[in-house]
Amino acid sequence: MPTGLSDERAADLLQKFGHNELPAAARKGLLARAAAQIANPLIYVLLCSAAISALLGHAVDTAIILAVVSINAAIGMVQEGRAEQALAAIRNLISARASVRRDGRRIIIPASEVVPGDVLLLEAGDRVAADGLLIRARNMSIDESILTGESVPVSKVSSSAHEDTFAGEESLVFSGTLVAAGQGTVLVKATGIGTRLGRITTLLERVEELETPLIRQMNVFARRVTGVILAVSSLALTYAWLIGGYPLTEAFMIVVSMAVAGIPEALPAVTTITMAVGVQRMAKRHAILRRLPAIETLGCVSTICSDKTGTLTKNEMTVSRLATAGVCFQVGGVGYEPRGGFTLDGLDVDPDADPTLLQLLRAAALCNDAALRETDHGWVVDGDPLEGALLVAAIKAGLSIDNLQRSTPRLDEIPFDTAHRYMASLHRCPDGAACLYVKGAPERILDMCSRQRTADGPAAIDRAYWRKAVEQLAATGFRVIAVASKPTLEKGRLAFADVDDLVVEGLIGLIDPPREEAIAAIAQCRSAGIAVKMITGDHVGTAAAIARELGLDVRQPAVAGELIDALDDDALRRLVAEANVFARATPEHKLRLVQALQARGDVVVMTGDGVNDAPALKRADVGVAMGRNGTEAAKEAAEMVLVDDNFASIVAAVREGRAVYDNLKKVIGWTMPTNGGEAMIIVLALAFGLTLPITPVQVLWINTVTAVGLGLVLAFEPAEPDIMQRGPRAGNEQLLSGFLIWRVLLVSALFAIGAFGVFEWALHWGYGLDAARTMVVNAIVIMEIAYLFSVRYLSSTSLTLRGALGTPAVLLGVGCVSALQVAFTYVPFMNELFDTRPVPLGPGLAILAVGVALFFILELEKRVQRQYGDFIERCLAMAEPPLRGWRRSIQRSAARLRRRLG
Ligand code: ADP
Ligand code: MG
Repeated sequence: MPTGLSDERAADLLQKFGHNELPAAARKGLLARAAAQIANPLIYVLLCSAAISALLGHAVDTAIILAVVSINAAIGMVQEGRAEQALAAIRNLISARASVRRDGRRIIIPASEVVPGDVLLLEAGDRVAADGLLIRARNMSIDESILTGESVPVSKVSSSAHEDTFAGEESLVFSGTLVAAGQGTVLVKATGIGTRLGRITTLLERVEELETPLIRQMNVFARRVTGVILAVSSLALTYAWLIGGYPLTEAFMIVVSMAVAGIPEALPAVTTITMAVGVQRMAKRHAILRRLPAIETLGCVSTICSDKTGTLTKNEMTVSRLATAGVCFQVGGVGYEPRGGFTLDGLDVDPDADPTLLQLLRAAALCNDAALRETDHGWVVDGDPLEGALLVAAIKAGLSIDNLQRSTPRLDEIPFDTAHRYMASLHRCPDGAACLYVKGAPERILDMCSRQRTADGPAAIDRAYWRKAVEQLAATGFRVIAVASKPTLEKGRLAFADVDDLVVEGLIGLIDPPREEAIAAIAQCRSAGIAVKMITGDHVGTAAAIARELGLDVRQPAVAGELIDALDDDALRRLVAEANVFARATPEHKLRLVQALQARGDVVVMTGDGVNDAPALKRADVGVAMGRNGTEAAKEAAEMVLVDDNFASIVAAVREGRAVYDNLKKVIGWTMPTNGGEAMIIVLALAFGLTLPITPVQVLWINTVTAVGLGLVLAFEPAEPDIMQRGPRAGNEQLLSGFLIWRVLLVSALFAIGAFGVFEWALHWGYGLDAARTMVVNAIVIMEIAYLFSVRYLSSTSLTLRGALGTPAVLLGVGCVSALQVAFTYVPFMNELFDTRPVPLGPGLAILAVGVALFFILELEKRVQRQYGDFIERCLAMAEPPLRGWRRSIQRSAARLRRRLG
């Protein structure tokens, strides 16, 4: 095996060739982004209105409509730009790493630091970091679809030829491709832009659009609303002109202002921003979304299936028990620091005095790919923590890993895989003979053993003893592996068939403590109506013991993988409803479990880290890959990546997913009724031939100021305190529900009453028309602020300290809007532009009271909803069949009419 570059040489080469990176995709230009904002039917309508008002000579109105458009576009552009940038930055958090050999040691470095000349180590699930020549390959096949589009993996062989001679494609690996199976060692030839992938960088210029089903639903909805408003507007125009007796130009301006007020032009941008805020918040909680639509699915998750090792547990392993034939030693010390002694029944023992114990540790240290390193923060393991722990135990017994590896070099190996659950390695021993070492799941290993190690050499195996020892260790929560060996004939290669007729060296019990955060998160899931299932490759006894420590519901016994195999789909579906712990499970079992849960109507999160987990991750509603210990293949298949591999981060993401959905509800729940209210005031005035309580330009003013200053702040609302105390939302829940229609009607009506009330009252007390209108504008804005505070808590009361204090975003929004209103009312220039008059203190206070009154009415409504919600729902349910009947008969008549007409 080549020793690889030295660190200095690597640094030089990095200087010379540069980082192993491809240039970032160009971001959309300013103009293109501005155009994207304007390319929106809502905006077209506004632009047309501006053009017509200009033709009619209403310069001020034209300017204001244009201002509405530009302010909206600018805000949308800035916010969406920031959102996109944030998403790009978040994606960089899961940057790739590569395993290389330098100075004879295997280390993990950022993929961007790989240089030509490096010795790159590849295994199943890795993304190849650079182009290079395979100098060693074992059952290697690589998925090159990123380059060729061909999704069937191609097999690769090592080029035994000298590095300079021509090598065929079958010995070349390319940057960006995925190792589907096997292991290999690569001599790096090209990095960065010099790679084959670098030459077709266009591939990477795919910028992901901020679009999810809900955003699409919102856009369709906004377009429909626009359509309806246009229809109503043309009717209103005809009516105002023909029946109302308004002059055409005036009627037109009134109707335009009504349309502008009614159209929710900010809604699409605010929806997108709400999503982006959610994605950023998840990233802060260590959950990186790879596919945006998952943010919606997360809010309705009903079951989380999680791996045990590393996700629910800390994956910081310590060897605690060593069982040889006859005795079981305890090992002291915690973590990876190689300090601690061996005891037997409480008495210290000298490991040197026990050759069987030493032989067990020697085998465990040789059949091992990990490396131990002391850093400033203590000892760390490069590689599998379980293997690292074995090295630590060997050092505690006085073995030198370096000496051992040098005197007993490895000839070949079969890597660990969850499918066969063991690792085997072939070594040349100091005496010249060859020896095979195997470690793995005890059942697997013991099945392949025929003898056991004793102080007097190999003897007949006592299966009952070993089985009992395994059960005992597992029941205490230890992760158990068995170690075995066999002297063999010297040969270069190791095959599966060679691994049999082994000698058991002993058992090793490791502690892997549960994560405290996971215990809290599981409790949170319980109150949030989310089931948690633990799926592990570990022993049934270990799984059950850890599940108990984690506080999982273990009333049903742990289910072993073989049982899953024995069940048909129906039986499995029944089993998954009850059982929460699945042990000795393979990736295929995971896939079947996901399918069974989904068949029951569950929305499923599934975690995974290996290549073979990809199908289950893809199948799950939200596949979650591990950022630290996961393979690139798993990350690619997943919707979400956990930076810290921590179960608690999944639950945090679910919480944020729920919050995003709530916030969308709030954004819509605020925007639609306030727009509706503004429009309704004008419609009523037109319909009844009343003096307009607000002029068209004033409507435009209100609309712009509040849509930006108030509507947008709801995108930044934090999760409501009880968000994890409710059950998951149904996957098919409609955002645009009956509740929303009710709110639009109620709030619009209250707005109209408030506006006309203030108007009549002001005229009654002898204020002039302009002063009265100024008061109405202020009243509407104050009512919108009051409604904002109300809608921040969808069903619980806003009458709390939390509710009153708001958030920085709320306070900023309200502050800006208030300042603008003061300017609108008191600054002479504004008075001229908008025909406003300063409002004296008395009426000012009265207007405030109107807002407060609205707030209390809405609080009362929430209370009634809370108390009689079920009753109302039942009434609605009863009303539904006749309503549906009517709807059908209307549809039928419409169809008949259409047939007759055409
Ligand atoms: P988990 O779901 O707990 O990560 P795995 O599938 O990784 O389970 O491991 C299953 C079993 O395989 C473990 O209980 C252990 O006995 C054995 N095992 C795990 N890692 C290794 C390894 N590196 N070498 C040998 N055996 C291992
Ligand atoms: Mg594992």
